[in-house]
Amino acid sequence: MQTQLFIDGEFTDGADGRTIEVFDPHDMSLLATISEATEVDVDRAVEAAKRAYPEWKAMSATDRGRLLLRLADAIEEHGEELALLETRDTGHPLRDSRGLDLVRTAMQFRYFGGMADKFQGAVVPVDRGFLDYVVREPLGVVGSIVPWNFPMMFVSWKMAPALAAGNCIVMKPSELTPLTALRIAELAAQVGFPRGVINVLPGYGQTAGARLVTHPDIAKISFTGSTPVGRMIASQAAGLGIRTHLELGGKGANIVFADATLPKAVGGTAFGIFHNQGQACIAASRLIIHESVADEFLERFLTLAASIKVGDPKDPSTEMGPLTSPMHRDRVLNYVQVAVDEGGEVLLGGKAPSDPALTQGCYVEPTVVRARPGSRVTCEEVFGPFMTVQTFSTDEEALAIANETEFALGGGLWTNDLSRAHRMARDINAGMVWVNSYKRAHPGSPFGGMGASGYGREMGFEAMHEYTEAKAIWINVDADIPPFYAR
Ligand code: NAD
Repeated sequence: MQTQLFIDGEFTDGADGRTIEVFDPHDMSLLATISEATEVDVDRAVEAAKRAYPEWKAMSATDRGRLLLRLADAIEEHGEELALLETRDTGHPLRDSRGLDLVRTAMQFRYFGGMADKFQGAVVPVDRGFLDYVVREPLGVVGSIVPWNFPMMFVSWKMAPALAAGNCIVMKPSELTPLTALRIAELAAQVGFPRGVINVLPGYGQTAGARLVTHPDIAKISFTGSTPVGRMIASQAAGLGIRTHLELGGKGANIVFADATLPKAVGGTAFGIFHNQGQACIAASRLIIHESVADEFLERFLTLAASIKVGDPKDPSTEMGPLTSPMHRDRVLNYVQVAVDEGGEVLLGGKAPSDPALTQGCYVEPTVVRARPGSRVTCEEVFGPFMTVQTFSTDEEALAIANETEFALGGGLWTNDLSRAHRMARDINAGMVWVNSYKRAHPGSPFGGMGASGYGREMGFEAMHEYTEAKAIWINVDADIPPFYAR
């Protein structure tokens, strides 16, 4: 396990020798003591990335892509180790770390490895006599700040397109879950990434993070995290002319219409809200269900949710592990009290499991709450295994409930009516809409939100645009000099 900062191709202690303790959320045992990055380390890392940039930018796109492909292979070769490390660091059930996080991480590096030499510029049909062509240039040194909920996957989401486009990167993982990011940096060095191209600095937001977003040599900050921190970062960076990309919170509306295939909707909804213990920005945290099928749906759903195996995430049969930290568990449980105080009805869960084997850990039972319209629990992001239920009678009402939060990230629709599906997909405020499924993602499909959920897109060609800028080059082929100054 790597526990030091990764700067300029080497593992090193932080400049002032401070450390961070990282805990296993299953039982809060000490998992690792890692070096903490502070402002001086950020400066060192940005300097290293700046030095590496000209050569990395000049490298052929095919060669950059080849390194990303090799990294994807190395991640798969070390898959078991990485999946277990992620499970111990975050509490993700091993079956998810193996079957989703790891698979998607390798897939993302592979997709952008292939993308590197296929992302093209353009020729613009301007006035006769001129050739105008547009090349997409990398930005320089990109600062990435990521949260604790999918730490391994987010390494790939941020690094793969930025590196494919020719940028160097300084990444600050969450202080709570830094271990897979450090291991992937080590694998990157082993497969041949040049020194300084990738730097990984675990540290706190107020010190390392704050320095990264205000460093004069940073070209762009790509941030994933909460809405208040994202907005604060964007305003700080804007003052210095640093561009930002914000992937923020969500409050996913999941609408089940009367004509939906209920068994599929029940299973899809359970995945939407309980996968990763609900700690997902796109979680299906609001069930909005037609009143005529609400009872039948809930009967099936509550039976399924009550049968979810909650336990040690290292057990391959576990379906829900602990939340990632005790602070977060307490925050989620506090929302149960908020719901009750607001007149909500707890239909399932709402507490830590009573199993003595789990009492030391950060566990919360699958929780379902019938909530009052406009209440805090239907508007604020809980970010846990906590789903609210609201009913509707008309499509217009369903849409109004879906669009009543300030977030606009992901949303789901369950219906067999084609026109309704397209109409609702058009009108729902969200960056991503899933019809008869929930929470799908692919490296080729743009991912991101609007409103309080941020702006900018991960994945696909959109991500390559995020990490490049257009340069227009005009060649005078046979045009006359404009008459104004002709002699
Ligand atoms: P957070 O905003 O508290 O922290 C995110 C990151 O920002 C961490 O690395 C943290 O150390 C850093 N940070 C904190 N203060 C900072 C500062 N002043 N300057 C610079 N960096 C700072 O969020 P969190 O609690 O770690 O993560 C949960 C949030 O992330 C949720 O709101 C969730 O919805 C959001 N999220 C969004 C997406 C998306 O793609 N839209 C994906 C996953 C998570």
